[in-house]
Amino acid sequence: MRNPQMVWEWYNHRRKIIHEAQPNAGHLAIAEMQSLFDEVTVVTQNIDNLHRRAGSKNIFELHGNIERNFCINCRTFYNEELDFSHGVPKCKCGGLIRPDVVWFGEYLPEDQFEGSERASVLSDIFFVVGTSAVVYPAAGLVHAAKRAGAFIVEINIEGTEISSICDESFLGEAGKILPEIIKVINTNAN
Ligand SMILES: [Zn+2]
Repeated sequence: MRNPQMVWEWYNHRRKIIHEAQPNAGHLAIAEMQSLFDEVTVVTQNIDNLHRRAGSKNIFELHGNIERNFCINCRTFYNEELDFSHGVPKCKCGGLIRPDVVWFGEYLPEDQFEGSERASVLSDIFFVVGTSAVVYPAAGLVHAAKRAGAFIVEINIEGTEISSICDESFLGEAGKILPEIIKVINTNAN
């Protein structure tokens, strides 16, 4: 609030970098799961929008999305490019517009978290990908899925605190392992 100009300079810089990034083989493999399973829900802590750009449809974003903004006064959302020609962008109501990302000390968006919880306890297979799974409340989703009877598959470059409750652990890069898993499922399906 003290320095929105600085916040926006930093976010515009980050947004530019993120926008130039492309979904990797891991994002694409997750999107491909939609054609292999009846229902796929993606729960992400990433704010980079790359799951959507990879083609995933059913996404809960626990930490928001850097390509989306909202007015802190009336909570109108702005998905399009903002106008910076007169300095920090303002809403029609006069309120400041900020990036729709969760900042340190802020709560996770309730609808996104509740949706994630619901999907977790209903899941048959729960993939934990590229996270140390130690930050709560997101890490609690793994435990909720496990308690509800899901088969837990972990894919991470190293073992984590939740490895012991996983039914399968694959150590390595998601961009290498996920496409392998898709290949095996495709082979078995044919
Ligand atoms: Zn407003």
